Order: sequence, then structure tokens, then C-alpha cells
Amino acid sequence: MPTRRSTDTTHGEQLFETALQQFDAAAELIGLSDRTRSILRSPKNEIIVSFPVELDDGELRMFRGYRVQHNDVLGPFKGGLRFSPEVELGEVKALAMWMTWKTSLSGVPFGGAKGGIAFNPREHSQGEIERIVRRFTHALGSNIGPEHDIPAPDVGSNAQAMVWMMDTYLNSASSGGDRQNTRRVVTGKTIETGGSLGRDKATGQGAAFVLAHHFEQINRDLRGTTAAIQGFGNVGEHCARALGRMGVTTTAVADHTGAIMNGHGIDPEALWRHTSEAGGVAGFADADEIDVEDFFASDVDILVPAAIENQITADRAPNVRASVILEGANGPTSNDGEAILIERGVEILPDVLANAGGVIVSYFEWLQNKMSAKWRLNQVDDELRRYLWDAADNIENEKKRLACSRREAAYAVALNRIGTVFDQRGIWP
Ligand code: GLU
Repeated sequence: MPTRRSTDTTHGEQLFETALQQFDAAAELIGLSDRTRSILRSPKNEIIVSFPVELDDGELRMFRGYRVQHNDVLGPFKGGLRFSPEVELGEVKALAMWMTWKTSLSGVPFGGAKGGIAFNPREHSQGEIERIVRRFTHALGSNIGPEHDIPAPDVGSNAQAMVWMMDTYLNSASSGGDRQNTRRVVTGKTIETGGSLGRDKATGQGAAFVLAHHFEQINRDLRGTTAAIQGFGNVGEHCARALGRMGVTTTAVADHTGAIMNGHGIDPEALWRHTSEAGGVAGFADADEIDVEDFFASDVDILVPAAIENQITADRAPNVRASVILEGANGPTSNDGEAILIERGVEILPDVLANAGGVIVSYFEWLQNKMSAKWRLNQVDDELRRYLWDAADNIENEKKRLACSRREAAYAVALNRIGTVFDQRGIWP
């Protein structure tokens, strides 16, 4: 086995470094106090749990799970849980920090957290996944709670996983016996168990709203434009559908199985039927397979990275032909990739805004649970658009005022809110 040199950094450590660089630049720009800066550079809590799970064949395997709680001055910790073999501490720390900026920017009364379990759900049966999720929830114990830390789905996890978490939490001592009133310990649940209408599509729908806002600002018609979407999971699929409703044609899609293209358009419904059976976009009959590097260089108006982080790198950025990047994923553009894109005049709609639809509708779900209420779908969609457009307006104003990038402006809005609360509350003891 090759030995690790002390200079080697893992993917997660690099990602956290990226997040810190972005934070430092924005903190400098707005003159954030040194006290607040040093608090926000480190997550408040980093929880790592190891737990055994019996697999279907009787083998006992140890799993490792993480929950990083970055900051809670604006409200309970909030953020997704990802199931992926790549999950490691540095990655979760970066993602938790990004959640703090996202919730603050969005104006929802939450802080930021993220978690995950290092395993590949594609290699496990439903029964095994259920046991993994339940054991993880049990191991977390009172580290989560309806007014303390509220997980949600992320890459690799889904509504069913949230229902198992809720059920485990409700049936354990951590729920404090107040079962009916603690369903909001997780969001992104199925509708039947207390989820919100519109939560499933919220991130993709939200990204489409953000894009529409941008096109309105630049006085350009969205109808008749084209998009290339990387990732056809919850975000990519719903984004393709929402864009389609706005008159945008998706001509290229890529995922972990490959990349496909059809200049006349790819029907999201037909592709969804294909991926549900085949497990990925490869082999879709109504498109040609293309090289993944050609995918990033697609001749489209809008490029939507909606998969994982660090995809639009300094190598790929010079080849991008789209004029707008809509960041459906968290951290899909590296800092050096972003510098190249900005130099080339490409507009970037940053992740903390573009994919905030998920956590905003999570807040609506949490509120509905708290009030035992049920909102209609159009109410959810209208409120979602209002939250996102307010956030986008705030960013555009700050961008003009500070003459900075859109990501820096987004951070400025988020950090100013948090900084003000720190200043007013002070530090105790
Ligand atoms: N995982 C999603 C995100 O990265 C949603 C988080 C949530 O709803 O709490 O924003």
C-alpha cells in the first residue's frame, strides 16, 4: 500500500480549504470582525460515530458516520446527510459551512450542519440500508433534535431514509416522549409521514426560479434557450423538468455512468423512466453518447452542475461555452475554475443561492409539522419563489455596492446577518 506523505491532502481537506478561502475573501471584503471570523472558521461540533450493522449474509460490518454542526446563531443546525463512499470529515466540514451561509442568505431561521455515512447505497439491499440508517440515528442520539439539529436528504439519501430516521428517533429515548411533536426532527420526508408538498422537487425548482430571476435582470428571454445538466438525481431531474416548463430545452445530460446529447432536446420524463431502470443515463435510446469532457464544452446557454463538488476546474473552465453556470450542486466550481470563468465573462449563479430551494422548503416542512398544518403546492411554490427572489435581489444590490463577484456578494449578505447577531449577542462566558 502506498504510504501517505505528510504533504498529501485528501479530497475533503482540499474542499474545506476551498470553503475557507471563499470565507476569508468575503470576510475581508465586508470587514467582518476578527472575533466573528475566528468563530466561523471552525465548526462548533464535529461528531464521528462508528457502529456495527449485520448484513444480509450474516456478516457484521462497521460503518462510520459523521455530523458536523457548523453554526447555530440564527437557529437550529440544519443540513443534509449524504450516503457515499467518498464521505470524510473534511468534506462534511466544508458542506456544513456552506449550509450556514445558505440558510443565512435565504432568510430561514436555521444554522448550518451536514452529515453523512461512508458507504455506497447502490451496493446494499433496502433492508441493509434501513439497518444502517437506523443504527446511525441511534448512534447520534440526542445530537439531533427538532429544535437542535434537523437532517434532510442529500446525495445518495432520500425521503425513505428520512422516514427511517424519524421513526428511530421517535421510538427512542432522545425524543423525550413527545412523539407527535417531534416529527420535524428531519425534513424531506414522504408526504404521507409528514413531508411537504413540493419538497421533492424544491432544489431543482428553486434553481429554475433563480435562473428566471437572472434572465429577468439581464432582460433576456429564457424561452428558447438550451441547457446541459450534470447529474440526474433529485436535483438534476427536477431542474430539467422545471426548466422545461419555462421553455428551456435540455440538450445534454451527464452522470456517473456517462454523458448523452440530443440537439433536439432530451425529454426529462423519458430519461427519468430510463434511469430508474438502468441506474444511469448511459444507454438512453433517444440520445447519442458523448465524452464527458465534450459534455462540459457543450454548445448551450446554461450549464447546470447538479452532481457533486469540484467539477468545473481550471482544466475544464476554459472549454465551457455556456454563458451562465447554475450551481445545483454544492461546491461544483473550484476557486481557480471560477477565476477563469469570471475572466471570460461567464455569469455564475452560486450554489448558496441556486440550490437553496431544498432547505427553504425544508423550513416550510418544519413549520407545517410544528403547526400541524398542510400547505397547498402552489402556496409552497409561491413562497419558495419569494424567498429566492428576495435573496437574489439582496445579492445583486450587494454585488453593485461592493463591486465584487456574485458569490462574494452572496457571502456578504449571509455574513453580515450572522455578524450582526454575534455583535448583539456577544460571547459568553
Ligand atoms: N441537502 C440539501 C442542501 O444541501 C438540503 C438541506 C436541507 O434541506 O436541510 O441544501
